[in-house]
Amino acid sequence: MRKRLTKYIFVTGGVMSSLGKGLASAAIGALLEARGIKISLQKLDPYINVDPGTMNPYQHGEVYVTDDGAETDLDLGHYERFTNIIASKHNNVTTGKVYNEVISRERKGDYLGETVQVIPHITDEIIKRIYAIEQEDSPDVCIVEVGGTVGDIESLPFLESIRQIRTQLGRENAIFVHLTYVPFLSAAGELKTKPTQHSVKDMLQIGIQPDILLCRTDRFLSNDIKKKIALFCNLNVESVITAKDVDIIYEVPIIFHKEGLDDIILETLKMWTKEPDFSKWERVVAKTKRLKNEVSIGVVGKYVEHKDAYKSLHEALCHASIENNVKLNIKYIDSEDLEKESPKKLLASCDGILVPGGFGDRGFEGKISAINYARENNIPFFGICLGLQMAVVEYARNVCDIKDAGTIESNKKSKNYVIDLMPDQKKLQTKGATMRLGQYPCEIKKASKVFQAYKKNKISERHRHRYEVNPEYHSTLINNNLILSGLSPDGTLVETIEIKKHKWFVACQFHPEFKSKPFRSHPLFRDFIKASSKKS
Ligand code: GLN
Repeated sequence: MRKRLTKYIFVTGGVMSSLGKGLASAAIGALLEARGIKISLQKLDPYINVDPGTMNPYQHGEVYVTDDGAETDLDLGHYERFTNIIASKHNNVTTGKVYNEVISRERKGDYLGETVQVIPHITDEIIKRIYAIEQEDSPDVCIVEVGGTVGDIESLPFLESIRQIRTQLGRENAIFVHLTYVPFLSAAGELKTKPTQHSVKDMLQIGIQPDILLCRTDRFLSNDIKKKIALFCNLNVESVITAKDVDIIYEVPIIFHKEGLDDIILETLKMWTKEPDFSKWERVVAKTKRLKNEVSIGVVGKYVEHKDAYKSLHEALCHASIENNVKLNIKYIDSEDLEKESPKKLLASCDGILVPGGFGDRGFEGKISAINYARENNIPFFGICLGLQMAVVEYARNVCDIKDAGTIESNKKSKNYVIDLMPDQKKLQTKGATMRLGQYPCEIKKASKVFQAYKKNKISERHRHRYEVNPEYHSTLINNNLILSGLSPDGTLVETIEIKKHKWFVACQFHPEFKSKPFRSHPLFRDFIKASSKKS
């Protein structure tokens, strides 16, 4: 079944959720890449949704889109930001996908009368998908993150599958890294190791002995504490690693390295590499710690209470502020509040205004009024996806004088849908498959702000939306001086817009935040922050 000898690092989590398993997995990827190892990453998600595309961002955080148009878990965003991998659909496996496949095979009669069961049919399908990475990405090492917390009913089939893989491949080719929590109890004045011991016991019960423990804590663990954990968890003291809280997430690989994590991983996997080079991480962290002048960005959206809903956006803004040497202050503003209060009052302290992607019509008029405020007051504005659509509606209403301009999504009474479904999508709509998903090419006009940013005229970016600027309105918008600076190669789809006589007013139909890196800020975010930081 297996053609190459990829080695596996399985990352599990214990005690509780939100300890940073995704970040830890991404950081392990960064550590190994710094040593010249070719890696891949995969996330196994225990939920029954086939993908997170239909999940509420409030509950699950952002839906991360890959080049090939897969709607995936936000941890894939960490993977792409920390490493050089270009993720695609096979890097995210969900229980829903696995069952979908097994059940459709059962319906076709592929199991020839067998009783189809969790073990071996579901687990075999999981194992097949883990091994599929070897053909897809041909990595030396694949880091597989198991979603959920040990002890959850949902993660059991995944844990059983990785247990079997370890038995098949042996310890030199498959290791278990377990992330646990070591809390400091201030009443007792000490660090508590019991939750970790129990978590490892839970793992042992299902036949998995962790090889390395990452202990999330607020301080470095002393050697004595490490010895105690090692003793109770059947490990060497070198295999107990402090995963200390950090202010800057890009510090995680450096801290892990100082704790000897990459050494112990490579020793266990019996791999020999060059000395690691962490200079790019060190530069990003040092620069972030030195940032001085502050720039305030108002993000006007719907999911403002739940930061994870805008995870990549937040990171892309951080990267851009690092590149511009300014300290970032993000103010999340609920667009519904802008329907009650004047934009002047709510946005006065913002140096730049950003309207991100989103779905539905809640806060529609609030977003329009924020955009109107930015446009008329020469305040840098950046619209992303829904943000572009709102900017076009605002422009159509207030500059082109189409008073009832609206979008089919938000203004059901309007006859003037400046934002609408394209005819071919209308046909598809009956099947429900109307999203434009994944990477699409875009051609940029020279002498535009977007060209100034990218410095090239052919780009490709990731999409996730249904609606487009209605081609029937292109000429009206152009005649009223809206620059359609980026178009699809056939000229039918508007990918970027901008206004000439404005400090920086740019919007894009795609999601640039998915392609920003800590040491290579996305050009549009970089220029938006640059324009917002200019004092004039
Ligand atoms: N709701 C809009 C559409 O479907 C925008 C989606 C988005 O911002 N991702 O076209």
